[in-house]
This record gives sequence, C-alpha cells and structure tokens, in this order.
Amino acid sequence: MKRLMMLGPPGAGKGTQAQKLVEAFEIPQISTGDLLRAAKRNGTELGKQAAPFMDNGKLVPDALVIGMVKERITLPDAKNGYIFDGFPRTRTQSEALDEMDVVLDHVISIEVSEPELIRRLAGRRSCKECKAVYHLEFAPPTKADTCDKCGCSPLIQRSDDQPAKIKQRLIEYAAETSPLIEFYQGKGILVQIDGEGDPKEIKKRIQSALGT
Ligand code: ADP
Ligand code: ADP
Ligand code: ZN
Repeated sequence: MKRLMMLGPPGAGKGTQAQKLVEAFEIPQISTGDLLRAAKRNGTELGKQAAPFMDNGKLVPDALVIGMVKERITLPDAKNGYIFDGFPRTRTQSEALDEMDVVLDHVISIEVSEPELIRRLAGRRSCKECKAVYHLEFAPPTKADTCDKCGCSPLIQRSDDQPAKIKQRLIEYAAETSPLIEFYQGKGILVQIDGEGDPKEIKKRIQSALGT
C-alpha cells in the first residue's frame, strides 16, 4: 500500500508530476479538481453545488470534497494505494483522512515562485477529451492546438485560469492550504521539492527524495 500526496499552489506542477508517478508506482492519481470538473460537466448534484465556488476561484466546501474522496478511494483501482493531487487542501480535510484511517506515506510539497506560477497557469491548455495538459510555451503539443495523445482540437483553457481567478486561487492557497506544509513537516512525512526546471528533472528529484 502506497499513499502519496502532491501539495503545492495552483500551477506548481502537481498534476504533471502525479501523472509521472502513476507510471512509476502503478497506482492511480486522484485529482479532486478533475473529479469536481467531471461532476460539473455531468451536471450531478455535487457538480451543481461545487460550481459557484470553482467558478470564483474559491475552495469547494469541505463536506462535499470529503464525501467525494471517501467514495473514490473505495474503488477497486485504489486497493494498492493512490496519489492524491490537490487533496487535502484544508486542515479539516486532513483531519477527515485521519478519521478514514488513511495514513499518508509521503507529502510531496512542490515549490515554485509566484511569477512562475502565474506564467504556468496563464499558458496552461488542456484536451477536453483525454484531459492531457499542455503549456503554450513550456510544453506545447507537436501540432499547434492539437492533442498529441488523442488528436482532439482545439485545446481549451480552464475558465479559472483567467488572471482574476488565478489571483483568488493564490489567496485561497495562502490562507487555507499552505499551513498544511508545516503540519505535515511536523508529522515527519514532508518532502520539499524545488519545482522549477525541466519536468523530467523534477520527477528525478521526487524519486530520489522518496528513495526509489
Ligand atoms: P497543477 O496541477 O499544480 O495546477 P499543472 O501540472 O497543471 O499544475 O501545471 C501547470 C502548467 O504548467 C501546465 O500548463 C503545465 O504544462 C506547466 N508545467 C508543469 N510543470 C512545469 C515545469 N516544470 N516547467 C514549466 N512548465 C510546467
Ligand atoms: P489547481 O491545482 O490548478 O489550482 P485544481 O484542479 O486542483 O486546480 O482545482 C480546481 C478547483 O477545484 C479549485 O480552485 C477548487 O475550487 C476546487 N477544488 C479542487 N480540489 C479541492 C479541494 N481539495 N478542496 C476544495 N476545493 C477543491
Ligand atoms: Zn487528448
């Protein structure tokens, strides 16, 4: 059983690195952002309740996110472990993990400067079919505006990657999520990673920090 968590501000590269770790460890990525966007797209009750928060760059209420994660980790693919991406994001969410008897092995904190975060978020594009993530400048697809993995075009920009929404998300991160760094450091499971540089290099930093 291996349970990892990617911690870091919006745009730090949590999703990018989580996908690389999925291959290395053969455990699934559980991205609460992806799950919430899917719920929103599918028009579920959860999606309807979460939408106004997401659209304003605010955190979705804890109870909604916790219920969703509780269900997700009971699926068969999670039996050998998983990589949480973007969860927990508040102390209440981390306490809910304790109540579920979920013990994290490592919390991978990805550190990137604010100007770099803003460049990453502003240029982020994704495939609406397979959800692959690109960057206009730093990770462009081979053929302009077309997904390398499934050929879908055009790539889309997330509505919360607009400048005003980015600012609000960074405020939420600083207020609600960043205290978790010290919290997990206190538990002795925090791994701090310099998140600037080539994504492949960052993957190596993570793997060597985890001793794998
Ligand atoms: P998060 O999940 O933390 O919000 P993403 O993994 O979606 O972050 O990355 C945000 C954007 O930055 C994406 O467009 C991605 O292609 C790009 N990106 C990810 N890692 C790097 C990196 N090491 N250097 C430059 N750009 C990166
Ligand atoms: P990023 O890491 O790029 O900021 P995510 O895809 O993780 O973005 O999250 C997008 C949005 O989904 C957040 O701004 C928030 O509204 C909601 N969200 C995702 N995960 C959580 C969570 N654990 N708790 C509360 N809200 C969440
Ligand atoms: Zn695609």
